[in-house]
Amino acid sequence: MLEVQHIVKAYGKQLAVNDVSFTVPNGEIAVLLGPNGAGKSTLIKSMAGLLRYKGEVLINGEKNKTAKARRDLGYVPEMPAVYDLLTVQEHMEFIARAYRLENWEADAAQLLERLEMDTKAHKLGKELSKGMQQKLSIACAMLPKPQVLVLDEPLVGLDPHAIKELKAMLREWRDAGHTLLLSTHMIDSVEQDWDCAYIMMLGQLKAVMRREEETESDTLEKLFFRITEGEVAEA
Ligand code: ADP
Repeated sequence: MLEVQHIVKAYGKQLAVNDVSFTVPNGEIAVLLGPNGAGKSTLIKSMAGLLRYKGEVLINGEKNKTAKARRDLGYVPEMPAVYDLLTVQEHMEFIARAYRLENWEADAAQLLERLEMDTKAHKLGKELSKGMQQKLSIACAMLPKPQVLVLDEPLVGLDPHAIKELKAMLREWRDAGHTLLLSTHMIDSVEQDWDCAYIMMLGQLKAVMRREEETESDTLEKLFFRITEGEVAEA
């Protein structure tokens, strides 16, 4: 479970996240929607403990800065950060050692295969394209099987196969009881792969829609444009 409680984050005088709260229970995929600059990345970096902020983020009830919470939280940054001089396979080994994983080799092989990175196992980080780095970053975050996985704009830069495979993996994780949150500024990219949607705008949480509330006349897309473009989009 992921609990975000009254998060406030300013960069100087610029308020990027303004008192945002929500809870994503186990076994759900939540999407964080909003146009560029809405505050999604800032909120996610706060969850990952990379920024100073006001408020509280709880991972399975534990504050996100504790060792237990860190172990239970996986984070895929918007900009993949891979090690230039480690190969893809060495990245997997590095994560396995850092998290003291046992019998991880088959999981790593399966992740790399599903993301079509198995043929790149011996390539160095610096030799990978941006999309390949993104896939490696996803594999690194998923290898320890964190209970909560947060992905910042994970679909940007991925090829269609990887998008399809990542969505399938997220659904499998959801069905296995994990908690998932992904952000996107592209409303059409989420399709039906969500249980609850949070729409942010100008640092604030403007609307929440649960999947079962969506009707033909009241779709998530319509709600999104109503909020981000005003009532005009409805006409
Ligand atoms: P999103 O991820 O929804 O595109 P961000 O969280 O990146 O939004 O940005 C929210 C607001 O905070 C924007 O107005 C952006 O310009 C500002 N911002 C983001 N990062 C910084 C930073 N490091 N320094 C100053 N302002 C920032």
